[in-house]
Amino acid sequence: MTLLMKIIDLRSDTVTVPTPEMRRAMFEAEVGDDVYGEDPSVNQLETEAAALLGKEAALFVPTGTQGNQIAIMSHTSRGQEVIMEAESHVFYYEQGGIAVLSGCQTRPVPGVNGAMDPDRVEAAIRGENIHYPVTGLVCVENTHNRSGGCVVPMENLMAVAEVAHRHGVPVHMDGARVFNAAVAQGRPVAEVVAPVDSVMFCLSKGLAAPVGSMLVGSQAFIDRSRRARKLLGGGMRQAGILAAAGLVSIRSMVDRLAEDHENAQTLARGLNEIAGLRVDLATVQTNMIMFDIDDARWDAESLAGAMTRAGVVCNANGPRRVRLVTHKDVSAADVAEALDRTAQVVKAGPDGKAAGYMY
Ligand SMILES: *Cc1c(COP(=O)(O)O)cnc(C)c1O
Repeated sequence: MTLLMKIIDLRSDTVTVPTPEMRRAMFEAEVGDDVYGEDPSVNQLETEAAALLGKEAALFVPTGTQGNQIAIMSHTSRGQEVIMEAESHVFYYEQGGIAVLSGCQTRPVPGVNGAMDPDRVEAAIRGENIHYPVTGLVCVENTHNRSGGCVVPMENLMAVAEVAHRHGVPVHMDGARVFNAAVAQGRPVAEVVAPVDSVMFCLSKGLAAPVGSMLVGSQAFIDRSRRARKLLGGGMRQAGILAAAGLVSIRSMVDRLAEDHENAQTLARGLNEIAGLRVDLATVQTNMIMFDIDDARWDAESLAGAMTRAGVVCNANGPRRVRLVTHKDVSAADVAEALDRTAQVVKAGPDGKAAGYMY
């Protein structure tokens, strides 16, 4: 037994801490008042993010949730309906912000691993009828969080966007992890987001910045979004301190996501070999793993708790499902260690003590 057990935190890629290069960049950042448009670091980040995604303009926002909500506010009017995948973050995890902030109602469409059937999207788009709300927006999510980081296939994305655009409806992508989608497909991110009108992506997840997300789209959309950000209290002042880290994220933290994907593959295959656990390997496409528990002695809460006490920190994601996420602060050696500890914990059972580890 090691006296100091290394904590391997697999809860999320949001736990990544800034790199030394980011801390240096933050220390040295040129700053100004961004509400006056005078922060050179923020301006640089917005310019580079827009160029990288192949859109006209970008806006630095404090969080991904705020970025999505601003996008919905900018695209819609009160009383409209927003079509979204039924397991999406905007539907599931944003406190009904669409209703609160935009005065819109949601129209969830079930998907397969995050991909909505374009025919079902088309069927959900409202026609002309005085009783109906007007369809204001279609939201897609890539990668798709609740399916375990699945990539929305390019053909699907294009088909959904084509349907929406044919009906005059804009498309927003919740691309919190769109760089994972791009790296997994070996495509430039601009190609992945080309079918959609606006994109939110997170700097603070796998790209390891301490804070921040970007909203990207046309100049007119970003102009409206800048007003909406101020309304929500997201007009930050010397935010260049944060943007400096974000610049390091988009310049040098993208390609290494492939490493997280490889680690996720190793972790998934290893978990599948532990008796009582099961991973659908087809859904392990980026940096997330969902495993299901067949061993009747365990439920997800108790197993996640026992793993956490053994230094493999994770969360339940359903009654019998646990989620693990790889990221830059988890090495290949950590993955091997996590597998070893997990096997011991599972084998020992809820009442047992896994040999070698302190509960
Ligand atoms: C994390 C996440 C968000 C929100 O990001 P926060 O910065 O935590 O508000 C939005 N969408 C998806 C798919 C996410 O995974």
